[in-house]
Amino acid sequence: MTKEKVTVIGLGLMGSALARALSAADLEVTVWNRTAAKAELFKPGEVQIADTFADAVRASDIIVVCVRDYEATADLFRVEPVEDELAGKAIVQLSTGTPLKAREASEWAKVVGATHLDGEIMAFPDAIGTDGCAILYSGDRSGFEACGNVVQAFGGTSQLIGADPGMAAALSNAVLSIYFSFAFGLLNGAAICDAEKVPLPLFRELVQSLFPVFDDVLSRSVDMISADDYESEHSTLETSAGALAQIAAVGRDAGLDGRLVECMRIYAAEGLEAGFGSVGNAVLFKQFRNRQ
Ligand code: NAP
Repeated sequence: MTKEKVTVIGLGLMGSALARALSAADLEVTVWNRTAAKAELFKPGEVQIADTFADAVRASDIIVVCVRDYEATADLFRVEPVEDELAGKAIVQLSTGTPLKAREASEWAKVVGATHLDGEIMAFPDAIGTDGCAILYSGDRSGFEACGNVVQAFGGTSQLIGADPGMAAALSNAVLSIYFSFAFGLLNGAAICDAEKVPLPLFRELVQSLFPVFDDVLSRSVDMISADDYESEHSTLETSAGALAQIAAVGRDAGLDGRLVECMRIYAAEGLEAGFGSVGNAVLFKQFRNRQ
């Protein structure tokens, strides 16, 4: 039986993992990377190495792209001889991007007669091809289904979340904003523990035991924002503003960098000034949205 052909453009940490997963799933994989030496790191027979970018594009009807960003992708693809080769092909863009760039790339793909599927990888390279991989896709369902074997080879819980090509990038950036708030907030907590001689394993244990509370905050906040109703029987913005002033004082007493807490304190203070002290914190969504 003829193997399905797929090309992978970009062999950084992520692109190499994608190429290996495709090869392990028994697809015929052609690879290309700007720095040719990276293509030599595969086992003999694992992939075909294209001599030129144009050869790599010609080799398969499905082209997976995982380079630094959309600009690097455009520099590679948006030149006439390459564009002329793209009719009927599917481009699976797995480089990180913004909703605007994903929509723009999708429009460009239509012009050259290709299908564009935008994917946002929510995993580290070692999870590719395992149950731990999660990739959000957006674009036409027919394009997604045509790339079914490729999507499946990456494993895990990949899903098409919508036809709007910008949706995957929007959702992944929304989730990343939580990830970084958590990751940076925990550094501030660790600095408090360190300064006050609280053992860090104890800090970790307590935070882990509180995950159900974070889950509850997520659900309540989404419900409040969706209903545009911020009445809360649990806690008010006024109470939160007090807690943030206290965290700031703890940091000052211990000589810590107070910038992160100050940023949150400013949001809470603005909410109080706007008269929202007696409702839940989620009311600050109005400030974050801040559409004129
Ligand atoms: P990486 O290891 O730094 O590799 C970057 C890749 O992009 C290399 O293949 C590099 O080629 C290529 N590249 C950069 N600029 C280029 C240009 N102007 N023209 C052609 N190729 C260019 O990064 P990575 O971790 O593989 O990440 C690749 C993409 O996956 C990024 O968009 C990243 O956000 C996304 N991603 C990564 C992870 C992760 O955990 N690593 C997770 C989710 C999403 P050279 O080898 O020639 O430099």
